[in-house]
Amino acid sequence: MAVVPVALAGRSYDVTIEAGALAKLAELAAPYLDRYNGRKVPFVTDANTHRLYQNQIETALAKGGHHAEWFVVDPGEGAKSWGVLEQLTDWLLTLGITRSDHVFALGGGVVGDLTGLACAVAKRGCGFVQIPTTLLAQVDSSVGGKTAINTRAGKNLIGAFHQPSAVIIDPLVLGTLPDREMRAGYAEVVKYGLLGDAEFFDWLDVNGTQVLARTPEPLAHAIATSIRAKAKIVAEDERETNDVRALLNLGHTFGHALEAETGFSDQLLHGEAVALGMVLAARYSAQRGDLAASDAERSARTIAAAGLPSEIAELGLTCDGAKLADHMRHDKKMEGSTLPFLLLKNIGEAYMARDVELSDIAAFLDTELARA
Ligand code: ADP
Ligand code: ZN
Repeated sequence: MAVVPVALAGRSYDVTIEAGALAKLAELAAPYLDRYNGRKVPFVTDANTHRLYQNQIETALAKGGHHAEWFVVDPGEGAKSWGVLEQLTDWLLTLGITRSDHVFALGGGVVGDLTGLACAVAKRGCGFVQIPTTLLAQVDSSVGGKTAINTRAGKNLIGAFHQPSAVIIDPLVLGTLPDREMRAGYAEVVKYGLLGDAEFFDWLDVNGTQVLARTPEPLAHAIATSIRAKAKIVAEDERETNDVRALLNLGHTFGHALEAETGFSDQLLHGEAVALGMVLAARYSAQRGDLAASDAERSARTIAAAGLPSEIAELGLTCDGAKLADHMRHDKKMEGSTLPFLLLKNIGEAYMARDVELSDIAAFLDTELARA
């Protein structure tokens, strides 16, 4: 078992990583369950995770004499909406949730983001516990307190910072996760190596196949190392007020443009877009002379070896670089014609460049789109 503390003034919490954690839930979450004292414990989940894990959760809760009440959303981004947020908050109020109660979020990033936001606003803030079930949610979205829904204007534009009281991670649940979702989450694992930990990047080159195959020890190590990196960054810059937390966005500016161009659809999952975005950030860094070209190509090989897309030419996009760069123009961080860009000096050393002209990015993307 690994316990990673997230040190935040006044609201520190632990991330517990343990194979079999789900079965021990009554014990691991006792401080949050015991207050229910006979009342049913609210669990938010999606239809897939409900079907797969409802019985395990009920059995685990019964060991402490608890019972769950379920709020089940449809799988997919559609659940991160005003409509579902309204239904969920109404449900919590009907249950008579109080500010010292804790709601349990069992699922991927969608369930965690939605539940976190509902708990930020219900009764002006109640507690919640994250039980992330995708690799992406385990290593990234469940830790750090960002919660959000999507609106017509874009993704994650309505949200709140609301930290969970605990994050409980059972790597065994990744056994049922589709391989494509596993690889997409793995992109965010590679991100931690690239942005700040060359040794971890080396380790992933050797052990990545085992991680993706869910071999227990390497998998737990990859999850714990990722969370330690994230916890450190979040503790330094909880609300992204300086450039520290922004480091977590490595590959995301390029990635977001690709997601927008493919309509935020199943054609390109978030993690896949981030994988491509990291290759682009590395190659652009090399073009500027910041990063050795050999390191840029090594990054691309690492990503390709994980079965992730590493060449935007393979996406079959019909647009040009200017159209992709246009998706970045509305970024709230734009300063005149430049956009602060996370680039690489080395594998394991990201930095924020403030002199990147969007027109230069467009020209660079034209070259990438034309790569054979
Ligand atoms: P993410 O965590 O990547 O943000 P989602 O919350 O949309 O994404 O989850 C991705 C998909 O994986 C959804 O269809 C969800 O129902 C499914 N899923 C989540 N966890 C598991 C699991 N442990 N086993 C099988 N499917 C899962
Ligand atoms: Zn991401």
